Amino acid sequence: MNENVKRLKETCDLSDGALKVLFAGEADEELRAAADEVRREVYGDAVYIRGLIEISNICRCDCCYCGIRRSNAKADRYRLTDAEILSCCREGHALGFRTFVLQGGEDGAFTDERLTALIREIKKEFPEDAVTLSLGERSRESYEKLREAGADRYLLRHETASPAHYARLHPASQTLENRKRCLFDLKDLGYQVGSGFMVGSPYQTPDDLVADLRFLKELSPDMIGIGPFIHHRDTPFAGFPDGSLDLTLRLISILRLMFPHALIPATTALGTVAPDGRERGLKAGANVVMPNLSPASARKKYELYDNKICTGEEAAQCIECLKSRVKNAGYNIVVDRGDVKK
Ligand code: SAH
Repeated sequence: MNENVKRLKETCDLSDGALKVLFAGEADEELRAAADEVRREVYGDAVYIRGLIEISNICRCDCCYCGIRRSNAKADRYRLTDAEILSCCREGHALGFRTFVLQGGEDGAFTDERLTALIREIKKEFPEDAVTLSLGERSRESYEKLREAGADRYLLRHETASPAHYARLHPASQTLENRKRCLFDLKDLGYQVGSGFMVGSPYQTPDDLVADLRFLKELSPDMIGIGPFIHHRDTPFAGFPDGSLDLTLRLISILRLMFPHALIPATTALGTVAPDGRERGLKAGANVVMPNLSPASARKKYELYDNKICTGEEAAQCIECLKSRVKNAGYNIVVDRGDVKK
């Protein structure tokens, strides 16, 4: 076996230099095979599903890469009602989902009061299901209230662990320091925490990617979401090339070997850069997919990047299509909360 792959598999770590050799594609097939082996040792052929509910595209942030950034006057804004969100959960539960992910822009209308009431309602109706939030940066007090109301997990990608790179992707008012503060608060409060980064975001270097992996080691998250950067026509990054499928797959494999127990999704962005992107993500070590449960009217409007897939189908069609894709890739979608195995 390739020496770097072997060492990474045995020690769950590697030097900066050797990581960069793997980023360059030195041993893709061996890397992929080793990651799949580890994934099967820990999770077998199970693929966990998360029902993604895109609750609002109203956002106070101005991330340069994101299509729903505050400054994008062309975005057609919407916000779901609590009744709509609950009805997505009902449909999802009936389809076999045992985790709901409430994701959205940083929309001030989702106050602690509103969210705690909503989480309590979901938990009351579906006590066995996990509630995951992905609503950006909030105060520690806010995270604490949401946790007390029953939220189980929180997804907040760090986006890039290099302060200089972070500053090129975000306005000065948004800092890596606060992003990290949020992540450590969430961990401390007992959430299962997910973080991650975009691959091929503008100005990203191999050193930045090494910094991302080192930061993840420090945080030790339960979930790690990565996907290629994809341009959005109405953002400052409209002219930048999209991230590479191959580099994203390599990084999924590296993450699986560095974090054998992590829950790693084959993301929608991966399925957007290649028709078989998600299947290839699973074969590279991913073990989660996040089908869209949002109402059809919301899907097109929650447009983080151009050409997002699965904006037309109904939830039921979406899950049927994914089931056969997952099966063809050699894995199985299971009805399960899909908590992290430690
Ligand atoms: N407001 C929430 C949810 C953000 S959307 C939060 O701040 O966490 C979820 C993820 O989509 C982001 O963390 C980012 O990594 C990714 N994303 C945003 N714009 C993207 C783009 N143009 N290409 C690829 N991924 C993007």
